Formats: sequence, structure tokens, C-alpha cells
Amino acid sequence: MDQLYDVIVVGAGYAGLSAAQRLQEAEKKVLVLEARDRVGGRVYTKSLASGSYVDLGAQWIGPGQDHMYALLKTYDLQHFPTYDQGKSLLCWDGKRKSYNGLIPPLPLPALLSLDRAIKSMNRLCRTIDPAAPWQHPRAKQWDSMTLQGWMDQTMMSQKAKQLFTIAAQAIYAVHPSEISFFFALYYARSGKDFDTLMNIRQGAQESRILGGADLPAKKIAEALGHQLRLSHAVRKVTQDMEGVVVKGDGFQYKTRKLIFAVPPVLLQQIQCNPALPSSKWQLFQRMPMGAVWKCYAIYSTPFWRDAGLNGLVASNNGHTRLVFDNSPADGSKGILMGFVLADEARAFSLLSEAERKASILSSLVNYFGPEAAATEAYTDHGWQEEEWSRGCYAAMMGPHTLSSMGMHLRTPVGHLHFAGTETAEEWNGYMEGAIRSGYREAHLVLEMI
Ligand SMILES: Cc1cc2nc3c(=O)[nH]c(=O)nc-3n(C[C@H](O)[C@H](O)[C@H](O)COP(=O)(O)OP(=O)(O)OC[C@H]3O[C@@H](n4cnc5c(N)ncnc54)[C@H](O)[C@@H]3O)c2cc1C
Repeated sequence: MDQLYDVIVVGAGYAGLSAAQRLQEAEKKVLVLEARDRVGGRVYTKSLASGSYVDLGAQWIGPGQDHMYALLKTYDLQHFPTYDQGKSLLCWDGKRKSYNGLIPPLPLPALLSLDRAIKSMNRLCRTIDPAAPWQHPRAKQWDSMTLQGWMDQTMMSQKAKQLFTIAAQAIYAVHPSEISFFFALYYARSGKDFDTLMNIRQGAQESRILGGADLPAKKIAEALGHQLRLSHAVRKVTQDMEGVVVKGDGFQYKTRKLIFAVPPVLLQQIQCNPALPSSKWQLFQRMPMGAVWKCYAIYSTPFWRDAGLNGLVASNNGHTRLVFDNSPADGSKGILMGFVLADEARAFSLLSEAERKASILSSLVNYFGPEAAATEAYTDHGWQEEEWSRGCYAAMMGPHTLSSMGMHLRTPVGHLHFAGTETAEEWNGYMEGAIRSGYREAHLVLEMI
């Protein structure tokens, strides 16, 4: 308790680590407190018995995510392109069709409807200022309906709506009826546009980090050394004019400034004294997390590539309706990753491990044939099961939240500052957004101490 820190950072995900890295560079006395026994937060690379690895949380990076690429450069880490050579599959009502490029084999009315919806999202989102979306002249109007409401108004084809739902769920990890249309536009805008968030090439899924997405986090943690304490869950924060006292089970520290780098749903578990203003509480209560399972089937070879397939599947049936080729860069193993999202993810959580594996393998057999049953290993991970995440990829907003309360998200309260991907203007919900938010708050704090 005796020593006084310049800054304590709560949370060692990319936001907290990036903030601490900047503060350390500025030679400030900084301490990072992390509840888990590892760093990375929503980024977690698991080593496999076969010697390969899988990213159970975040994995992709893409153009425009400059700070992430800069981090890789700093630590001499490599990235490699997401595998997309060959044909994708559309598995619909039990029928399987393969196709080249981005345009799925749909009847013309469905194709036109889908194309128009995506173009509209792109056009409308570009009119939003990500730094102050609530100032948009149509903020209230767009924020009064859900993404589903907008789809129902503008898309006539049921098939197009179903496909748009698959894309939307992959981007937001919630059903379109769970989020506001305005928030969906803002989120797309913060990563450039809907196309960018959806695509592999020139999109947010363009590349993967060689060795796993948590490598840069581990490098920052290494440099922090004893300035990082794992298994230190912060329970209570008390501030007065002098500074902040931070308490957890068996520890207590004092600091001049504090940066929270945890998602809003977990901020609500930390007792703040005096209490945070109601403007923040009202907002935090309206920022639930999405729901995602990532399911990995590991094979001795990427056998689907021999059949000219790139591993990408969109389907309207089963728990996993979106599949990617997640094999290592050298193709030494074959790894298929199936997303289970939103309602399917919540239903999946009710199954046993054996039932989950059976469901995923049955879908993969439908998509890729009997060879898909012969896995070397299977592993999955559901982020809504995690005490220190409570869902993923990030916090979402329903109607009437961003336009009327969003402006309170980043505002400091006395000595308390707020980082985390949810507070990011650019790349909100992504690792890049987390890093930017950490740098932003470190910069703000450095101006004050
Ligand atoms: C399945 C999945 C797939 C994703 N895919 C991608 C992707 O491909 N590309 C991409 O860019 N992003 C992706 N994301 C999103 C990305 O992971 C997040 O945006 C980013 O990692 C968030 O970083 P953060 O630092 O803001 O929060 P977090 O990573 O959540 O870090 C917060 C940290 O705070 C800790 N903490 C919480 N409460 C306390 C407390 N009371 N005391 C101390 N510590 C506490 C937590 O343990 C955690 O380590 C994905 C996420 C998931 C889960």
C-alpha cells in the first residue's frame, strides 16, 4: 500500500497493455492489475498437442489496423494471409453449391436485394463521424429501430435476409433484432464500412498472426515484468482529491490516476466510491456482450483444398453456419473453424462437450463429405462462459442507446479513465480499437501528471 503509483491500469487485454506500454515508455510508475492468470483477455492462443495452435478468441487483422501492424513490427512478429484459394460453399436447405469469388449462387431477386442492402449499409455508414456519431442528423431516427427492423423494411427477399443475417451475426455476434440499426452503422463505420468488416481480402479477415494473436500481448507483458500482476481482480476503487485506492482480495494499492481497460459489463462489478455518475451506469446497463463459440476440427491435412475448396462455408442449418479454413500458414495441419453465433451460441452452451463435438462434425460432414468425420482432435471455446469476459466479441447497443447515451462512454470521472475496445472511435470491437483506446487514455493521463 505504501508506494504511490502514477497510474494503475485495470485489465491486461490489448487496451490495458497498450496503455501501460505507453506509460512505461514515458517512465511513469505504472502497475497493471489483471484478474485472469494470463494476459490477452479476449485474445487467447491455445497450443495443440500436435504442435500447432488455435486462436480461441480474436485472430484476424486487416488493412487500416495500423497500430496492430506496428506492434507486430516492433516485436519482429509475422503475419500471413488467410487462406482463400479456391471455391466457397453455400449450403442451403440441404443442398450444396460451390462458387468462385464473393457472389454466392442465389436467384437474381435475392442477389439484387442482398447487394442493395450491403451497398446501403456502406453508403449510410460513411456519413457517420465515428468520433461523435450521436451528432448525425438522423441519429435518433436510425437509433429508434433494430437492424432487423431496417432489413424488414428494405429487403424483400427472404433468402437475401437469411444470408444478410449470417453476415451480420458474423460481424456483431448478435442477432440483427438485438442491435440498433444506428449502432450497426456506427460499428461498421468505425472499421471503415460493412464490406470491410465482412471480407477476407482488403477486409478485417485478411491476415493472421504467425504463432497466434496473443504473441504481441505476451511481448508487452514481458517488458512490463513486475509492473504486471496476474490473478489480481480489482473489486473496489475509492477516489478523493489526492488519488485513488484500489482494492482486491488481499491487496491494496494507491495511485494518482487509474485507467479501466475492461468491458462495460465487467465494470459494473467493480464497486466505485463515490459511485460513478448515473449517466455512465445507465449506459453500461445497456451494453450487453454478444455470444460466440469458436469450434475447431483438426485434421492431418487440409483435405478440402485438394477438392479445390477454400474452406469457407455459409449455411442456413445447424449450430455452425459459417466456417473458415484456419490451418497453419504452412498447411502442415488441416484446421476448420466453425463459428457458432448469437442464438445458436446460447443454445450450444446448453449442450455437453460430446454433443457439441457431434453437432459440429455432423455439419462439417454435410459441408465437406465423410473425410470431415476423421478428426485428429476437436476443441471449442464459448466466451459467454468466461467469468472475465461474459461474452464476445464486444459490447453491443440496442435501440436508443448510442444516440442518447453514447457520449458518456469515454468521459473521465475525476482520476478515473476509461479505455477498452468498446470506447474506441476507430475499429470499435476489434484488437485495433483496444490498442487505440489504450494509447488514447495513456496520452490523456500523461498530459495531467
Ligand atoms: C471469439 C472472438 C473472436 C474475435 N475475433 C476478432 C478478430 O478476428 N479480430 C479482432 O481484431 N478482434 C476480434 N475479437 C475482438 C477482440 O478480441 C477484442 O476487441 C479485444 O481483444 C478487446 O480488448 P480489450 O483490452 O478492450 O478487452 P479484454 O481483452 O476483454 O481485456 C480486458 C481484461 O480485463 C480483465 N478484467 C476484467 N475485469 C477485471 C477486474 N475486475 N480486475 C482486473 N482485471 C479485470 C479481463 O480478464 C481481461 O483480461 C474477437 C473476440 C472474440 C472473443
